[in-house]
Order: sequence, then structure tokens, then C-alpha cells
Amino acid sequence: MNITVIQADITTLDVDAIVNAANTSLLGGGGVDGAIHRAAGPELLKVCRTLGGCPTGDAKLTKGFKLPARYVIHTVGPVWHGGTRGEAELLASCYQRSLALAESVSARSVAFPSISTGVYRYPIEEAARIAVSTVGEALQQGSTGEAVTFCCFSAKDLAVYEACLSQLKPQ
Ligand code: ADP
Repeated sequence: MNITVIQADITTLDVDAIVNAANTSLLGGGGVDGAIHRAAGPELLKVCRTLGGCPTGDAKLTKGFKLPARYVIHTVGPVWHGGTRGEAELLASCYQRSLALAESVSARSVAFPSISTGVYRYPIEEAARIAVSTVGEALQQGSTGEAVTFCCFSAKDLAVYEACLSQLKPQ
């Protein structure tokens, strides 16, 4: 299975599609969302304004504009409220919907940030476990052979994702 974990700024990655941890307005924000809009340039916001927002757990596609990546997949992770408001299902749905959109444009290399674990406060250990297991299952079922990179911003997040990935890989 083609899954890797790296520590990097996702806006620098030369992949077919990067995923943005956006908010429901799709009109930009802080964190990875702000970084992606800055790097892509103002054309991205112009197009996002036409999309009518995005529900939590879903995803929408744009071009990458000035980014090295050809596409940006904007997904909206759940805000953490303690885990009783469907957060796990919504987070898994972000990964599934994003991969489905990537497949729809034949994007073969896709990079994800750690969705919901910044301002949205999803506990990193639990979010990473869901991210890695959901992507792992999708890649096993899919026919496209997409290569997925989990792009962690901090060394601490990298260690958490690496631990999850080592549990997923065949014994
Ligand atoms: P959310 O609102 O979904 O929690 P954030 O952008 O606040 O989204 O945080 C999601 C993750 O993205 C955090 O782990 C944060 O450290 C990380 N992050 C922030 N900037 C970047 C970047 N340029 N590249 C990759 N990851 C980033």
C-alpha cells in the first residue's frame, strides 16, 4: 500500500492534489487553509467564492493555481466537541470524500494535512488513527493505486502518524 508520512509545508509539495483543512465557508482561514490561499494566490479565493461553501465531512475541488499541486481538495473537518457529536464519522468522511474527488480527476498522488487537529482541537492520536485506517481501507478497495502522503507540520505530529502507520502495515 502506497502511504508515506513526511514533515513538510504542504504548499511546497509537487503532487497531483493537496487537501486543504478548510471551514464551511471555503473563504479562507488560518492554519493550513491560510497557507494554501497565500501560496495559491488570489485566484483561488475567487473560485472558492463560487462554490457555495461545503458541509462538514464533505469536500470540493479546485485547481491549484500558483501551487506546485495541480488541484486543491477542500474538505471540512469536524470541530472536536468531546467525541459525542459524530466527530469520528465526519473525520473519516473527509478522507473518503477527498480520495473520491482525487480519483474523479485521475489524481494519482495526494497529500493530506492533519485535518481537524489544529484550531478544531481533534486529539491528534485519535485523529491520526482514523486518518491512517480510513485511507488504508480506501486504497485497499480502490483500483487506482493512488499514492497518499500524510504531511505533518510538526515533528510531534510526524511521530504520531508514523506510529499509526506502522500498526497498519502488514505484520
Ligand atoms: P483545522 O481547523 O482543521 O484544525 P488547522 O489548519 O488549524 O486546521 O490545523 C490542521 C493541521 O495543519 C495542524 O496540524 C497544523 O499544524 C497543520 N498545518 C498548518 N499549516 C500547515 C502547512 N503549511 N502545511 C501542513 N500542515 C500545516
